[in-house]
Order: sequence, then C-alpha cells, then structure tokens
Amino acid sequence: MQSYQIDIQGTVQGVGFRPFVYALAMRFGVYGEVWNDSKGVSIRLDTTIELLKDFIAQIESQKPPLAHIDAIDFYTIEPQNYAKFSIIQSQMQNDTFALMPPDVAICDACEAELFESSNRRYGYPFITCTHCGVRYTIIKQLPYDRANTSMGAFAMCTTCHEEYTNPLNRRYHAQPIGCFECGPTLELRDKSEALSLAQSQIIDRVAHIIQEGKIVAIKGVGGYHLVCDASNHEAVQTLRKRKNRPHKPLAIMVRDTQMAKQIAHISPQEEKLLTSKERPIVLLHKLNTQHLTLSTLVAPDVDTIGIFLPYTPLHLLLLKALNRPIVATSANVSDEPLARNFEEVMKLSDIWDYCLDHDREIVNGCDDSVVMIVQESVLFVRRARGYAPQAITLPFRLSQKVLALGANQKSTIAIAFENKAILSPHIGDLHTIDSIAYYRQHIEHLRQIYNFQEDRVVHDKHPHYESTKYAKTLNAEHLTLSTIQHHVAHIQAVRLEYGIRDKVLGIAFDGTGYGDDGNMWGGEFIVCDDNSYERVAHLDYFKLLGGEKAIKEPRRVALSLLFECYGVKALDMDNPTTRAFSSSELRLYYRMWYNGLNAPLTSSMGRLFDGVASLSGIIQTLSYEGQSGAMMERYYDSTIQSCYLWNVKDGKIDSKPMIKMMPTQPNPTVMISKFFNTLVNIVEQIAMCYPYPVVLGGGVFQNRVLVELLLHKMGKRVLLPQKLPPNDGAIALGQIMQGYRV
Ligand code: ZN
Ligand code: ZN
Ligand code: FE
Repeated sequence: MQSYQIDIQGTVQGVGFRPFVYALAMRFGVYGEVWNDSKGVSIRLDTTIELLKDFIAQIESQKPPLAHIDAIDFYTIEPQNYAKFSIIQSQMQNDTFALMPPDVAICDACEAELFESSNRRYGYPFITCTHCGVRYTIIKQLPYDRANTSMGAFAMCTTCHEEYTNPLNRRYHAQPIGCFECGPTLELRDKSEALSLAQSQIIDRVAHIIQEGKIVAIKGVGGYHLVCDASNHEAVQTLRKRKNRPHKPLAIMVRDTQMAKQIAHISPQEEKLLTSKERPIVLLHKLNTQHLTLSTLVAPDVDTIGIFLPYTPLHLLLLKALNRPIVATSANVSDEPLARNFEEVMKLSDIWDYCLDHDREIVNGCDDSVVMIVQESVLFVRRARGYAPQAITLPFRLSQKVLALGANQKSTIAIAFENKAILSPHIGDLHTIDSIAYYRQHIEHLRQIYNFQEDRVVHDKHPHYESTKYAKTLNAEHLTLSTIQHHVAHIQAVRLEYGIRDKVLGIAFDGTGYGDDGNMWGGEFIVCDDNSYERVAHLDYFKLLGGEKAIKEPRRVALSLLFECYGVKALDMDNPTTRAFSSSELRLYYRMWYNGLNAPLTSSMGRLFDGVASLSGIIQTLSYEGQSGAMMERYYDSTIQSCYLWNVKDGKIDSKPMIKMMPTQPNPTVMISKFFNTLVNIVEQIAMCYPYPVVLGGGVFQNRVLVELLLHKMGKRVLLPQKLPPNDGAIALGQIMQGYRV
C-alpha cells in the first residue's frame, strides 16, 4: 500500500465534486481525504497504483454534470495511514486559480420536487441543488463556500443543514440551498410599499396582475426583468413607450418548447439550445401563421424572434400559473447594465407597476445570453448568463498577469494569467455615470473573486473610450499600460478562440473602431500573426456627415455616398435618400461634405449597410443599433444571383460603382440581395490572394444572411467565433494578445 495525492484543475468547485469523490471512495473501499484548494480539488488516498489508476479513470468518466476537468496530476507522498475517508476544510493559498462555474438552469430533479405536492419544497421559488442554480451571481470571493456568497446571510434550518452535511445527499455542500423555513423569500410591492401576502399567494397574484395588462419588474438570477403579457397589445405598447424603445425586438419567455413551437420554427439543434442548462435567448424564425397570438409589437419589422424558457423555479411557477408567453426584457435603460437591487430598479419605477422582489442579493450582475444558429454554427449575440465567466485556455503562456479592458459598447473585461483567460459576462454600453461605475465595480469584483492583481493593462486605442480613461487612472508606476487597435483585437480574439498561432487573413466588418491613422475603421482586411499585423485592404473612406449623428441616420451615410459619386449633382437626384431631406438640408450637408467640416472619414462596413438601407428606402433613421442590418435580412432573395461591380486599387475597396448602380434599380429586394452577393464576392476575391485561414470578427458578422452566404460559399475556409460574440463583447479577449506580444 502506498499514499498518493491527486490534483485536479478546472471547473471543479461548487459543482458537487467532493461528494462525488467521497461516494467514489466509498465504492472503492479506500481511505483518505478530499478538499478544495485555490487551484481546484485535491485528493489523498492510501491505495495501490492499479486501484489509483482505476479511481482516476472513474473521476474522468463519471464526473458531476457541471464539472469540467482541465488537468489531473498524481504523485506519491509520505505514507498517511488513514482510518476513514473524509471531506476536509478548504485550504487556500495566495494564488487563486480555481474556476467558477456559471449560473445554470434548474435541474430535472429539482423541477420534479418543485411540483410534487408532498415535497417539503413544493412550490418553493428558490429550490436548488448541487447540480443546478445560481453560482457566479452570488459569489463574493473564492473559495466557493456559503459564507463567501450572498447566501451567507441565511442560516440553514436543521433539515437543510442535514442535507447540506450528508455527502450522499444531492444537496451536500450546495451553497445556495434553503427552504420556506430558512431561505430567501419573495416580496411583491407596488411603488410605495410591500403588499401583505403569504409566500404561497404571491406567484398567483403576480400572474393575475400580468393578466390584467400590468408591467411587473421581476428579480431573477443576475438582475431584474420587465415583464408583461406578450399577447396583450396595449401592455406591450405601454412597455415600449415607458422604456422609450419603439422598435427593438423584445424577448419572450414561454412555458415550454411546445409553446415555443406555436410561435417559431425550431430545428432539433435550436431545441437543444433552448432546453440546455445555459437556457439562452435563442433567435428563431417566426412562423408565418402563428398558432398563438402575440402582439405584433413584440418584434416588428424583422423575421426573427428571441425566445427563452424558464430557467429558475420562480419563472417555472409563474409561467405555469400564466400559461401564456410573457415579454421578459432586461430592466435597464437601453443597452446599459441592468438593475440588480431594489434601489436600482426603483430608478425605473416609471416603467413598472409592480415589483416582484426577493432578498437574495445579486453580487455580480449577469444579463441573459442571446444566441442563434446559422448553418449549424452557434453564433453569440450576447455572452452572459450560463456561459460566463468561463475560462478560455490560451495557446501560450503569459509571463505577466494581464487585465484587458474591452471596448466601450457591449463592454466586457478579461483577466489572464499563465495559460488561462477569464472573460466577464456582457456588462453593457458605457455611456452614463451609472454604467461606468458598474463597469469599474465589475473589474474590482473580478480582482477580488480571483485574488488577481494585474501587471499589465491593455486597452483600446480610442482616446475617448471610458475603458481608456479608466486605464489612465491606474497607477502607472506598478503597471505597464499598452494599447491595441480595435479591429486587430477583433481578429486576435478569434485566433485565440481557435488556438491559431499561424498567420490569418482577418476580416473585420464592424460599426466603428479607432484606426491607426485616426480615422474610423470598420471594413478591414488584416493579415496578422502573434507579433505583427498589416492592413492589406479596406473599404475606401467616405465622410460621416455630422460625425456621431450619422450613426443613427442611415440617410446621412447614403447622402455622403451619393456626393462621393455625383458631387453637387446629387442635390437634384430623386430617390428615397434625397427625399428624406428638405432642400435646404441637402444644401447644408453638401457644404459639410465639400468642406469636410464635422465630417470624419470612415471605412465602416456597418455604415455601408446603413447607406444601402437608406438608398433602398427601407429605413432612414434608426431607433436601435443594428436595425438596418436586421431589417435588410428579410429582403434577401436567394433566387437573385447577380452582384454589383466593385474595384480594389492599392488596397482600397471602391464602392462607388455599386452605389451608382443602386438608384437605377429602386426595388429594395433586388438592391439588397445584390448588395449581399457583392459583399460575398469581395470577401471571396480578396481571400483568394492569401493562403491563410480567413477569420471573421466585428458586429456586422451577426447578420444572419451575410454569415449564411459566407459559410455556404466558402465553407470551412472561414472561421467565425463560436464561443464568443463577433461584436465588441470579444474585444477584451483579443486584447490579451497584446500582453503576450510585448
Ligand atoms: Zn437541482
Ligand atoms: Zn431550510
Ligand atoms: Fe467593434
């Protein structure tokens, strides 16, 4: 008999790993101990080498559902002579490497108990076990023990404590457990006070209120939702008006996949995603004839609808009581971080009539994830609950600890050490004091959770990004600050995701990013490897009339393009773009264009989409980001195969021949279809000149039609991010590269 130690790294804490090892040791009849440490889980056993190898094989094949093993090592130690097998106290050193599992949906066993009238947690809205429920959103610091989470505030009752301390129970060391007697409780309030209701009455009352057409703010896992009856036209209209969100599609939550199938087409792959433990919002094609009446205001002017299934016991109970789809949209001011506590949700009290609150504190905010399936590839729109934080193994080792600050919109942050990077969930846009404060707080939390102190900080080149300003506040004496160009970061993120070390041809089709020459880039072809990059081609510059303002007004972009093609003659043209201005406005913008005053140069593909949307007459002013691209999807006709002419000279892609042809064929279907075909043609032609893998990054690659066409035409030659969103949510990961390069 020998003594051995086994060290396991990966997502092994807070997932029922120690009780699993305990039960395994019982089965093997071996003695020893198991504990959590700062790098993961360690085990000591008195056994033979044959049994040890068997034991390790069982760990690998039988591990708990939420566990993920990155590495297992074993070695001989001094003889221990154990008299039993036990789970011992966590042992922490300075460096914290253990990984935190994300929050996942309620498991089947808990769901069964929730609806089992004889169960002591029957109808308990916070039922959970080791294999399901909240994790990241309640943790203050590692190790993941109850005292380090917001559940530390709830003392367990005797029965819960018995479950918690029995290694053979499904709730052994399940940190968030509780029951009616000891756990978190619900509270229903109107704007002034809490209604006096028994716990058992609250869900039914909320269902009733929603049926009456009211708007309810509901506290969930990582923040609040604003909820109303999705079939009630007036309620949806009121929500849109109060939230000042006239058109942007709203996500709906439905009881189950059966209900979802009455609203949208669902492939087996999409169904798997809908019911996965991550339970994201899945963007699905609407049915032509829906068998369930939804308000047309839920997702107007687009072909798709975002649907998700209940992922907490609270949502399950509510949807069962309602038996109809609800709008469930993040409680925030557009694209800003969502409300996480009562104080924050009170700031939105003009929007809601009632608030369903609870007393389990949300430590780390986390929005719903949004994904779609395109040609059997998973495409993230927003990576948050269920997926984040998730560690990404880097294809190299860092000599320094790196903090990457992301961009300014769809902000995320990343920390990296050794060969691991941890990407935060989607934080949101950094346009207000509150959102900036939240962003900074999130950095602080990540540092605290992972006991992390950076040696190097990487930020975007843009001098006015809030992330850049934050970098400048850090103590430069102990830190190295470095910058990376926005689109290079987009490409590097995808290289890191795929673990590519060789050269790639990166294509960044994006809204905007600060370029090396100070212009706004966004239609870029960049050849890059670990150490260098070269911008080999880009969309030829055009002027953004009125700068930032042009981002919301496709008509300004289109007008600028017409001026590029026709100069002053454009003033006399008659097309949807010119019709969107008065004649004095036209003259004003011509002067602006001619003099180049308040008209910065851009090579942005996102803006070119806007311009084409305006010329085709489908939209002139946007009410949400990405609206023109989303609307253009429904005009694409795959029977139209032709494309427009274009030129490339000295690395500049000239769109003028295309723009000139557009007003001659004013049918939006023809125009938009040919435009998409042209883009694919450009990508194919340029890609032919380089013998490298083609890597796609940037927000424009969230356009379903464009991605479908590219995957269809170019197949495996193009690599699209699968674990990260193509948009600025991936920038922080790409920035890590700068920490390696220098
Ligand atoms: Zn469970
Ligand atoms: Zn209890
Ligand atoms: Fe970007």
